[in-house]
Amino acid sequence: MPDFDYDLFVIGAGSGGVRAARMSAGLGARVAVAEDRYMGGTCVNVGCIPKKLFVYASHFREEFEDAAGFGWTVQPEKFDWKKLIANKDVEIKRLNGIYESLLNNAGARIYNGRAELVDPHTVTVNGEKLTAQRILVAVGGWPYVPDVPGKELAITSNEAFFLEQLPQRVVIVGGGYIAVEFAGIFNGLGSEVTEIYRGPVFLRGFDDDARNFVAQEMRKKGIDLRFNADVSAITKNTNGLTVALNDGSSIECDTVMYATGRRPLTANLGLEACGVDLAPNGAIMVNERYQTNIDSIYAIGDVTDRINLTPVALAEGMSLAWDLFSPDEKQVDYEYVPAAVFSQPNIGTVGYTETQAREKFGAVTIYRSTFTALKHTLSGSDEKTLMKLIVDDTSDRVVGVHMVGPDAGETIQGIAIALKAGATKAVFDRTIGIHPTAAEEFVTMREPVA
Ligand code: NDP
Repeated sequence: MPDFDYDLFVIGAGSGGVRAARMSAGLGARVAVAEDRYMGGTCVNVGCIPKKLFVYASHFREEFEDAAGFGWTVQPEKFDWKKLIANKDVEIKRLNGIYESLLNNAGARIYNGRAELVDPHTVTVNGEKLTAQRILVAVGGWPYVPDVPGKELAITSNEAFFLEQLPQRVVIVGGGYIAVEFAGIFNGLGSEVTEIYRGPVFLRGFDDDARNFVAQEMRKKGIDLRFNADVSAITKNTNGLTVALNDGSSIECDTVMYATGRRPLTANLGLEACGVDLAPNGAIMVNERYQTNIDSIYAIGDVTDRINLTPVALAEGMSLAWDLFSPDEKQVDYEYVPAAVFSQPNIGTVGYTETQAREKFGAVTIYRSTFTALKHTLSGSDEKTLMKLIVDDTSDRVVGVHMVGPDAGETIQGIAIALKAGATKAVFDRTIGIHPTAAEEFVTMREPVA
């Protein structure tokens, strides 16, 4: 057997790559990781973590408003964007360091530089040729901006985390996770926000009730949602930017942010030269064990463009390490993967949408409840909460749970355990609620939707 420098060479120190590297090194493999941008990848640097910090920041405005009904007088509030960015940067730097020490402590060698594949067992990094028995590509994705005249004037989420100042007027293009989350962030921080989505309702793929409900709640908070709309051009004007729409109207703003999806970051990595099969959008095609058509080359996480969520990449990294370097197997179970959109209010979801459930199971029963949370009896806010259960009539199993409301992500994590365990509606009904919470509604819904 040829003698390689490493047992595993990981390209990309994001969530998936770091987890695979750490676990593999912990199982005794000789591991190296190359990273040319930032430790921790998208999630830590320009994704989940700074985004959630921004969501917290943007929430305070409502909290100040809500406080009055509870007897508080809040001083006129003042927000300092530069301070938020600076404090966020300090925290991200701390996390970068943690990721680095996790790798070092596990015994993995870090190469700070861009790695490219030369052949199925060789990479170059910083001019050095290194060989490995296996190479794992975990380079993630990058924001995609469609070809629109003036696209160079727009930013993406990558830049949104480092803006010099908070824009007064923002136009956000797109209707996925990032667009909806940033619409809430900018709105909460005080910007005037317009969100433009090309289809009839944003968040395609989520349950229709949840999509419509969150749209209604976001409009109530002052966000201008324009559906069935698209941008035809972006131009500079004396005060900022003009966004021309395809219906002939236009919007003046300071910042245009595109959140129209992300693409796998596979260009110029040497993958084609090695003969690795790529999908038309550049995603690396892998089998159920994350192996490409080239035996020694593997890929996990967003670069495979399947379920592009950090916890999925983490699970895949762990599974691959076990697969390669231990006698045990730990297959990732992709059924009932929960997710949250940190929109305001949040969406929490696990399992099938109503449309998918009707298609898969035939007869289903729907339980739905909309209500005002206890807090808002005094706060004066007119925010509503939606909860929805979808039950397969044949098995009585709860196969879909959707929530729009404060902390929906926190609530749905626990519900996801119940769904994975195969909980039936009867089990939900036998479960005692916690009073007074919003979540207790999930165990007290008795009347199906007619
Ligand atoms: P999404 O794939 O979620 O959404 C992309 C949006 O852009 C869709 O509304 C899509 O419309 C629209 N779009 C795509 N192409 C065009 C175009 N040419 N013109 C106009 N609109 C277009 O991508 P995001 O960028 O929001 O997020 C990327 C991924 O990151 C997500 O898929 C998610 O997996 C992950 N993520 C997860 C988060 C979380 O867990 N909370 C938070 C943020 C990101 P249409 O639906 O019509 O195709």
